Amino acid sequence: MYPASFDYKRPATIDEAVALLTQFGDDAKVLAGGHSLIPAMKLRLARPRVVVDIGRIANLNYIREAGSSIAIGAMTTHQEIASSKQLQDKCPLLPETASHIGDMQVRNMGTIGGSLAHNDPAADYPAAILALDAEIDVAGPKGRRTIRAGDFFVDLLTTAIAPNELIVEVRVPATPKTVAYVKTEQKASGFALAGVAVVISPAGVRVGITGVAAKAYRATGVEQALKGKTTAEAIAQAAARATDGVELLNDIHASAEYRAHLAQVNTKRALERAASR
Ligand code: FAD
Repeated sequence: MYPASFDYKRPATIDEAVALLTQFGDDAKVLAGGHSLIPAMKLRLARPRVVVDIGRIANLNYIREAGSSIAIGAMTTHQEIASSKQLQDKCPLLPETASHIGDMQVRNMGTIGGSLAHNDPAADYPAAILALDAEIDVAGPKGRRTIRAGDFFVDLLTTAIAPNELIVEVRVPATPKTVAYVKTEQKASGFALAGVAVVISPAGVRVGITGVAAKAYRATGVEQALKGKTTAEAIAQAAARATDGVELLNDIHASAEYRAHLAQVNTKRALERAASR
């Protein structure tokens, strides 16, 4: 199946990309790894008049230390993140999460910027990005701004980025090893039916959940129930609150009841695994 016809632009710099997005507004779409955009265009769910390919912009693919954080360029692929020794040492939750995404082909092409911008309700990164309380830098016509993870995921397939803004960098904090990502996937695609990311640190427990609602969320009921204690009994009781106050997805892939069950089971497993590390 072919997409509708479109103009193709290949900017060499971030400024050029932003200028094109500003010029064409809602008619333009950024192309990164193409593993969400191209299928959507082929199915005519997306019909951009102009595709702005950011794949040749030189300084968007890196993983480097930035103070107490690790900075990751938007075009860094899932596989580069999964296999990064630096991230495995300093922020092991992100490579663990990346290794669960799709298959090798998807991981070799898909990018962290593309996944976050797309904000698929069943994508893996959002759970980890929320649990890590990461920061996302976007570039726009007025320069760069930073969006906290908690403000980034607005609704189904909708984020806090404006149409003429580009994700340029994601920053994750260094964490202890007491982290885990546990996922039950939809067998055909690999997308999450319920994916749970956990960070246990001296400051407390943070839990991000994807796949069960229109957007990923912080399981604040679980976090509050675990204040100051991660015993087996406390974990079991806290995990029962994984979907408190959440409107659950109910579709051909899984019923709302099944998703709630998976979220609770995977929350318990992720907390146990993180605590045991
Ligand atoms: P693209 O497809 O190029 O772009 C996606 C969207 O983001 C577009 O709207 C585009 O305009 C926008 N965009 C891209 N980059 C930027 C940027 N820097 N700034 C602003 N906007 C931008 N994902 C999972 O999480 N888990 C899975 O198990 C999984 N399984 C998959 C299985 C298959 C068969 C396929 C095809 C995909 C799967 N994916 C999965 C999705 C995959 O991770 C995609 O790579 C990802 O969602 C999009 O990243 P991309 O770089 O390909 O972005």
